[in-house]
Amino acid sequence: MLVDLKEILKIAEENKSAIGSFNTPNYTSLKAVIDAAEELEQPVIITHAQLHEEMGLCKMEEIAPIMLFAAERAKIPVCLHLDHGTDLDYVKRSMKLGFTSVMYDGSELTEAENFKNTALVVKWAHEAGISVEGEIGTMGARERISTDNGSIYTEPDEAREFAEKTGIDALACAFGAAHGVYAKEPKLDFDRLDKIRQAVSVPLVMHGGSGVSDDDFRHVIKNGIRKVNYYTYMAMAGGKAVRELSDMTYFHDIELAGLIAMKADVKHAISVFSCK
Ligand SMILES: [Zn+2]
Repeated sequence: MLVDLKEILKIAEENKSAIGSFNTPNYTSLKAVIDAAEELEQPVIITHAQLHEEMGLCKMEEIAPIMLFAAERAKIPVCLHLDHGTDLDYVKRSMKLGFTSVMYDGSELTEAENFKNTALVVKWAHEAGISVEGEIGTMGARERISTDNGSIYTEPDEAREFAEKTGIDALACAFGAAHGVYAKEPKLDFDRLDKIRQAVSVPLVMHGGSGVSDDDFRHVIKNGIRKVNYYTYMAMAGGKAVRELSDMTYFHDIELAGLIAMKADVKHAISVFSCK
């Protein structure tokens, strides 16, 4: 059943858990995520990343109807979310395709531009009954950053001002996690997360779970993270299974091996995030 981000994060808040948010740039990964969530009877967020279109992997206009179809038919609540929309026109297009939630990523802009554009996206989205995730202080941000250990952190006071002024429904914040494959083990700043939690009233989102242990995930969820973006390790699990295949006669064997491995990895991630 299709739901928006606000609704799905309310479930997380009630359960003191987090909802896994997974990029699904093809049918195989979409099936892996939906099947995993249905088997565990847990809500899930499926996402299209603007970056995956820029890489040439899938076009939003083509993948969105397939994702929407899967979300509507699923036995569990599913949110259809745009991940890291960096272009205002692209975000606007997503709203016409049935996305129930969009993330506007203005972190590479100046602070003033990020505030202005995020507020504009919130206006468009809320008129259409769509939720918005905003981002402050994460990867690529030029402003408001400190660079201890090469990481980029969200400042609690700025996070409060950003959430209040823009009217976003969820906030992606940075406290030491990294996107992609981590170069060195991420050091999470739990104290900073606590301060952001106290400063901001909307649900918090963690991007970049790479290299984070199950215990650390449980710790940050206990401290207020309600959505975890997870993709790299799922995609790597699929790749590893394919490399280990001894007989790759048919392409469908490759797909099936990837599907089984990604589903197992997603099931593990969802069970950690659900804190059961
Ligand atoms: Zn992200």
